[in-house]
Amino acid sequence: MNPNSLLEENFRLTPFHKKSLQKLGLRTILDLLYFFPVKYSSSLPQKNINELLGDEQVTVYGKIVNLETGKTWKSKKAIAKATLVDQTGKIKILWMHQPYIAKMFRENSIVRVNGKVSQKKDVLCFINPEIEKAEEIPMPILTLPTPAKVEFLEPTYRESRGISSRWFHYHVERILKSGTLDQLSDPIPKKILEKYNLPSLRTSLIWIHMPKRENDYIPARKRFAFEEIFFIQLEKQRERKEYEQKLSFKINPTSNDLKFFTDRLPFKLTASQEKSVADILGDFKKDYPMSRLLEGDVGSGKTAVAAITSYACITTPPKDNRFGQLQVTYMAPTEILANQHFKTFIETFSGLNIKVGLLTGSGCKKFPSKLNPSEATVIPKSQLLRWVANGEIPILIGTHALIQKNIKFKNLAYVIIDEQHRFGTKQRAELRKKDGILPHLLTMTATPIPRTLALTIYGDLDLTLLDQMPAGRKTVITEVVPPNKREETYQKIGQELKSGRQLFVICPRINEPDPEKEQALNVKSVSEEAARLKKSVFPEYEIGILHSKLKKEEKEEVMKDFEAGETQILCATSVVEVGINVPNATTIIIEGAERFGLAQLHQLRGRVLRSSHQAYCYVFSEGKTQKSIQRLKALTTAKNGFELAELDLEQRGAGELSGKKQWGISDLGMEAIKNIRMVEAARNEAREIVEIDPSFKEKDHFVLKEILEKQKNKIHFE
Ligand code: ADP
Ligand code: MG
Repeated sequence: MNPNSLLEENFRLTPFHKKSLQKLGLRTILDLLYFFPVKYSSSLPQKNINELLGDEQVTVYGKIVNLETGKTWKSKKAIAKATLVDQTGKIKILWMHQPYIAKMFRENSIVRVNGKVSQKKDVLCFINPEIEKAEEIPMPILTLPTPAKVEFLEPTYRESRGISSRWFHYHVERILKSGTLDQLSDPIPKKILEKYNLPSLRTSLIWIHMPKRENDYIPARKRFAFEEIFFIQLEKQRERKEYEQKLSFKINPTSNDLKFFTDRLPFKLTASQEKSVADILGDFKKDYPMSRLLEGDVGSGKTAVAAITSYACITTPPKDNRFGQLQVTYMAPTEILANQHFKTFIETFSGLNIKVGLLTGSGCKKFPSKLNPSEATVIPKSQLLRWVANGEIPILIGTHALIQKNIKFKNLAYVIIDEQHRFGTKQRAELRKKDGILPHLLTMTATPIPRTLALTIYGDLDLTLLDQMPAGRKTVITEVVPPNKREETYQKIGQELKSGRQLFVICPRINEPDPEKEQALNVKSVSEEAARLKKSVFPEYEIGILHSKLKKEEKEEVMKDFEAGETQILCATSVVEVGINVPNATTIIIEGAERFGLAQLHQLRGRVLRSSHQAYCYVFSEGKTQKSIQRLKALTTAKNGFELAELDLEQRGAGELSGKKQWGISDLGMEAIKNIRMVEAARNEAREIVEIDPSFKEKDHFVLKEILEKQKNKIHFE
């Protein structure tokens, strides 16, 4: 089989298979080889039900029926019950403390059960076995395979409708045994494999799909995790190198000018802000365009850094043109934020005779107005664009409407992006001037992610952390509330509401049509919780409901009501982008806190940070273990979001980091994110290759180029 040939040319596929494979993005033999198992289980002897004996570990296939939840008779503990039936008989299954299991399966679905058979008097049953969906009941087994020792690990692949784990197992094995591996060349240079003691591609593919023991798949997975990060780094480092060969405006402000400006600010900069400004000004002086990421918690003062460096930029005349002015554009993710930045910039630059423009989907403004120099005025877009094009307006603030094709700047030197993860190379190139001069780029984000992840997904950017809050800032008083303190806490919150403040309630889910399930899962849903609060906790207040399934207009309506104080409580899910700024909302309740990462909880509580009153965050946890309470307590001690992101990574693993999907890293790649040494190794090796052979001309590097091209195409297809 040719590794690059299509699966359908090699295997007989049903339309179902084809559809599922397409959905999983698997087209070629090589794709299938790179589709790795999600887990491995020691394979147990498979038996028919009528052959089971007490105390043995087995696998049984069958239909599951009589699913029910209940309570144990004595201790009233929640349990789930079911019966497993095959062609030969039936057996009862019990799950203690896992009532939700009964809700995870439908009556009559086919399952595979792994576990120990328990025997009480003459009755056999399974207690707390592993259970998973299966495609079919395999043929009844006639002879009993009772291997002396379990000597291989069975891989489980991610299933999808119409294609089973077994299908993958079978077909991958065929490929592995077909000699196809001889046609593959290892994309990682040999030198690197040796240096880090990583197995070759051939060995790794066999070990990851058909391991004999743990010691096989662990190094194999490590190798593929490294490979993924290495190629991301290679791509990012190459981009970085490309930028370093481009031209930019050199900006070299006098320190007097800057001092004059910072002295005008109504506060003293934090040490962190000063360092950030210094990093940026350092980049401005270089010959090539800056590519920098400024990461700082909500409220850490990123806007001031943007304003100071913007000032440095517009007060430095372009080379060979003493009367011209360099330009800055500042892009925000929402209109509300663009308006806010516009306002801040007007205040910050007032009296300095600096013009500022605003461009959003719903209109354009210019500051100062001719009639009233202390105010902004609405102007037509065409007029604004003319002034931007002839260089008369040095600062243009806006939403993504800014990167439309018809916007031309005269001397665009500096682009600032606030919270816009998707601003890529392509958009940046669009802002390039005709003469090939690229603007300096500053991306700002408040999303706390661990350092290893930042180094990977932002590998083309230099990193500055704004990890200090302005002095005297109120913090959100955070309390982890165990179930028995709920009533007491509601009373405290009631006092806040009574004095006119407002409340956010965040729930993990939107709604739960099955009340029994809600109870079983112990997860609060927005609609149910809102109804419950209205009925029995805060009947005297109006409650709004906000979640992602609402239409855009409905959402706006709900937010408007809350902003206007017509509703006092807003019950919402976490996914709702709350581009909402309600200083009067001083309290936030987070339900089902154990379902969220710490960094995410931190971001959620950031919503009440803007309040001028003391703000409170109550983290309601149903978690009973000391460990889960301990984990949440970190919210009250950590200094910033980054610390919490690192804790998430340490305690729950990379798979648990919220927002995982948007980064385009596989689960396996995420395993590498936990390992700073691996990430640094991948980064250093990629850097070195790009440094000595930027266009991959060396023979050893041909294959790198090929893979990068493929990777690029894949990204563009999406
Ligand atoms: P973010 O990093 O979330 O964008 P902002 O730039 O909006 O934060 O700043 C939040 C608030 O903190 C603003 O009201 C700003 O004026 C204020 N601020 C910024 N820097 C300082 C400082 N060094 N000292 C005191 N207040 C500051
Ligand atoms: Mg901000």
